[in-house]
Amino acid sequence: MSLEALLQVASPFVESLSAVASPFTSAEFDEYVMKTYARYPITLERGAGCRVWDADGREYLDFVAGIATCTLGHAHPAMVEAVTKQIQTLHHVSNLYYTAAQGELAKWLVKNSCADRAFFCNSGAEANEGAIKLARKYAHTVRGITNPVIITAHASFHGRTLATITATGQPKYQQGFSPLVPGFEYVPYNDIAALEQAIAALDQDKPRVAAILLEALQGEGGVRPGDRAYFQRIREICNERGILLICDEVQVGMGRSGKLWGFENLGIEPDIFTSAKGLGGGIPIGAMLCKESCNIFQPGDHASTFGGNPFACAVALAVCHTLEADHLLQNAQERGEQLRTGLQAIAQRYPEKVADVRGWGLINGLEIQAEIDLTSAQVVQSGINQGVLMVPAGPKVVRFVPPLIVTASEVDHALHAVDQAFATL
Ligand SMILES: *Cc1c(COP(=O)(O)O)cnc(C)c1O
Repeated sequence: MSLEALLQVASPFVESLSAVASPFTSAEFDEYVMKTYARYPITLERGAGCRVWDADGREYLDFVAGIATCTLGHAHPAMVEAVTKQIQTLHHVSNLYYTAAQGELAKWLVKNSCADRAFFCNSGAEANEGAIKLARKYAHTVRGITNPVIITAHASFHGRTLATITATGQPKYQQGFSPLVPGFEYVPYNDIAALEQAIAALDQDKPRVAAILLEALQGEGGVRPGDRAYFQRIREICNERGILLICDEVQVGMGRSGKLWGFENLGIEPDIFTSAKGLGGGIPIGAMLCKESCNIFQPGDHASTFGGNPFACAVALAVCHTLEADHLLQNAQERGEQLRTGLQAIAQRYPEKVADVRGWGLINGLEIQAEIDLTSAQVVQSGINQGVLMVPAGPKVVRFVPPLIVTASEVDHALHAVDQAFATL
């Protein structure tokens, strides 16, 4: 049957077919989608490896990876296979039943971390919500705290739901959404004296501090690695007082730091940690994991309709297996070292423009000098003009979070674009 004949038979669908085939302009997009994002005027259409192409066929090197999410880049064969196989077998049932995929993913995560149990959800914010609920329930039932407080850090980022914008120590995410959720207090990051003071004040009459929730490396807050001595002292304080240490591993976890979990870089083990972004390689999935000692949720305490469905779990498991089989932690360490060395050389060439280069593995930031007018957005725009995607982490930090499969020549390509940006801006 010719295409024309086929389209005749399918006449009721011809209109929608042609609508899909025709280019959808950004102006039209903005008529229908809420304006919650400031988008670049680029419509991305296709990806392969560390590259993506826009609707005009222009190629970009992707050092954003869906913001530290596309662990295996785009259209990775292992993901294509897992997606195809699982959608043809069983994609969703309900947590009313057992599925092998969810059990196998939980087993992999438990065997490859300090945790003993996993709960699955769909995003980073939702994983943190689960951690907050677990910490509160633990405070109430195990420690008899009636008015629990969770301490978080300034410049942190924990998500966009009401409890997680409250946990996020950045007023810009909270403005306009009051009343916020009670029971959160904030301290400066990497400042042990400030934390000890806050705990002493809160626990003055009777214990109130249920948990300390921190990122091992602050991602959105400007790619700021946690200090080893700070986290080790926190671990001691938590042990002494029965406080739970929660690590938000949503951005830095799943191999991005060159270790599977960010907290491994600090020589500590949290009681609870959360994962999302890189876990499914771009398929929506989140996880909240905990030690047996705080595995206190009972049937009915927490749930999610989509959470841990066999589709998302099978794809995440393929991401986990590929991390292992293709030695991607080692690649993250080596390519990360290459990237940081290159960025440090750029910092030395433009000392009046670059203030700092920092990061772990393949999560790195370049901070622009505070005194000059140049912003991270301008550097990112210069990258786009040169066909390289990067993402700001605040107004003065450019963030580099490529897929963990990135190659040496791709790192060189990105470094060249950054050098050009500082040469011309
Ligand atoms: C992105 C992020 C979140 C929120 O994840 P969502 O999937 O957008 O809800 C939470 N914590 C950290 C550290 C993040 O980077």
